Amino acid sequence: MSDPKRIYLQPECCADPDTGRMWCEDQDPEECEEGKAWTEYVRADRVKALEELVSHCWVHSDYENCGYRKMTTEQKKIFDSLTIELKF
Ligand SMILES: [Zn+2]
Repeated sequence: MSDPKRIYLQPECCADPDTGRMWCEDQDPEECEEGKAWTEYVRADRVKALEELVSHCWVHSDYENCGYRKMTTEQKKIFDSLTIELKF
């Protein structure tokens, strides 16, 4: 099993004084009684991959489809997942 792509940190107001704030992997954890939302964190390697893709697109902005042909397999996968809704 791989690490979760994103996790959520419990609001400060709900933290147990002895154990601190809890983490969870739920998609969309419910707000607490004070109406505070959980803080969403995204895995750093995924952010880095996205930054590199944006950089690639900038460098290849004059190429067809942002230089799609020269992207790595992983970059194509990310690019496809982000643009699929725009293609229809
Ligand atoms: Zn709370």
